[in-house]
Amino acid sequence: MAKITLSNLRHSYMPDPKNPEDWALKQLDVDWEDGGAYALLGPSGCGKTTLLNIISGLLTPSHGKVLFDGKDVTALPPDQRHIAQVFQFPVVYDTMTVYDNLAFPLRNRGVNEREVDIRVREIAEMTDLTPMLQNRASGLTADGKQKISLGRGLVRENVNAILFDEPLTVIDPHLKFLLRAKLKELHQRINNTMIYVTHDQTEALTFADQVVVMNMGEVVQIGTPIELFEKPKHTFVGHFIGSPGMNVIPCEIENGVAMIGGRKIKTANKVDKPKGKTEIGIRPEFINFAAKGIATKVVKVTDAGRFDIVQTNCEGQRVNLILAKGAGIPSENAKLAFDPANTRIYVDGWLSGEGQQI
Ligand code: ADP
Ligand code: MG
Repeated sequence: MAKITLSNLRHSYMPDPKNPEDWALKQLDVDWEDGGAYALLGPSGCGKTTLLNIISGLLTPSHGKVLFDGKDVTALPPDQRHIAQVFQFPVVYDTMTVYDNLAFPLRNRGVNEREVDIRVREIAEMTDLTPMLQNRASGLTADGKQKISLGRGLVRENVNAILFDEPLTVIDPHLKFLLRAKLKELHQRINNTMIYVTHDQTEALTFADQVVVMNMGEVVQIGTPIELFEKPKHTFVGHFIGSPGMNVIPCEIENGVAMIGGRKIKTANKVDKPKGKTEIGIRPEFINFAAKGIATKVVKVTDAGRFDIVQTNCEGQRVNLILAKGAGIPSENAKLAFDPANTRIYVDGWLSGEGQQI
């Protein structure tokens, strides 16, 4: 097991990258602590698979270094990095039995058969494959095959890290829930570094202790699920995490104070002389209707079980509220009050006063 460091890392699939969008990974400096349970969360195309392939050695970065416990492994091939990787789509040997598929990574490294048998049966139990161990893999459903892939990723002991690339995409929702819980439990038991890639916030937030949020080839925030919820460092994080996500409302700045529609807004952070686009970020959970505040118009109320999601239109801008049932929704002259401790100014997307460091 090892701490994994990505230092000054950039990657482009193009021979001669010129524009920012030519880079699949723009500039990354990330430490993955030994034994951490990480989720790598971001929309399709933001560079998640590229990042995993650089860690496992399937891909050599255009710039920068990959370090395991401080040792430069950038030039090491995958088989010398001791990384287990589970891909998005099943990789199985159809002609082999389920048992032999699970045993493959161990036999490949000369583990003795007694130990192979113990590990294979343990992993089969965990992935619900025990009843079909002697079946040929070709007869299994897509679900079953992906369980083999997962099992093969988990079967080796003493790997530096286990990387999961959206491994539950082809698994049905109920089993997805069970497997995710099992992975979490497994992490608590073996304490191996795990990086779990997903574009699904629920998956990320339930699996990980630390979530690494990526957008357009950049890491925009690393934090616990609570930190990402309470203090998004970028409007992208606020919007991507939460349901509905954080409201992002254009604002003016006058003498360091945020103004919306000529009205002063109390905020938790400050900005002196902003250079760039200024916006207020506030989650729907932290807005209420009040006697005094910003005028708005209720557009739609959606029943979300214990809560109502209220969509309003505030000077052409959509602003959502999440209200406890029975909180009272004004039919006219609605006014919004923002909780100042959870109202923040963002400049060009980044939380003001915090710089762009993660
Ligand atoms: P994600 O896994 O987050 O969906 P990827 O890492 O697969 O994102 O892709 C990041 C960017 O790199 C995308 O713009 C994608 O089109 C591009 N890309 C990925 N793989 C290749 C490749 N083999 N050749 C060229 N471009 C690629
Ligand atoms: Mg991918």
